[in-house]
Amino acid sequence: MSYDKDFYLSRNWRALRGSMLKHNPICAEPGCGQPSTQVDHILTRRLAPERELDRANLTCLCASHHARKSARFDGGFGNACKDEADLGCTADGVPRDPKSHWNSHNKDG
Ligand SMILES: [Zn+2]
Repeated sequence: MSYDKDFYLSRNWRALRGSMLKHNPICAEPGCGQPSTQVDHILTRRLAPERELDRANLTCLCASHHARKSARFDGGFGNACKDEADLGCTADGVPRDPKSHWNSHNKDG
């Protein structure tokens, strides 16, 4: 997964991610209302690698909705999510409890 890891560690991504979360502090999922802690690619980097730093291709989600979307598009809770989680999802002080989400969705994945 070095392809993902290199990207999520890149300065460009981290700067863009921080900016996105600052401007979109609430989860983009309608009716959710939770603080957004994750920046998600609408078209995954696999599908549209040229748009990986395109703001129009990014959406801010809470941990729960991001986990669901990642599971749907990536086929499971894999390294991509973990890499992103390692990069300080708690930077804005929002506590995360990924295990509770992951446990409840594991059977679907
Ligand atoms: Zn949400």
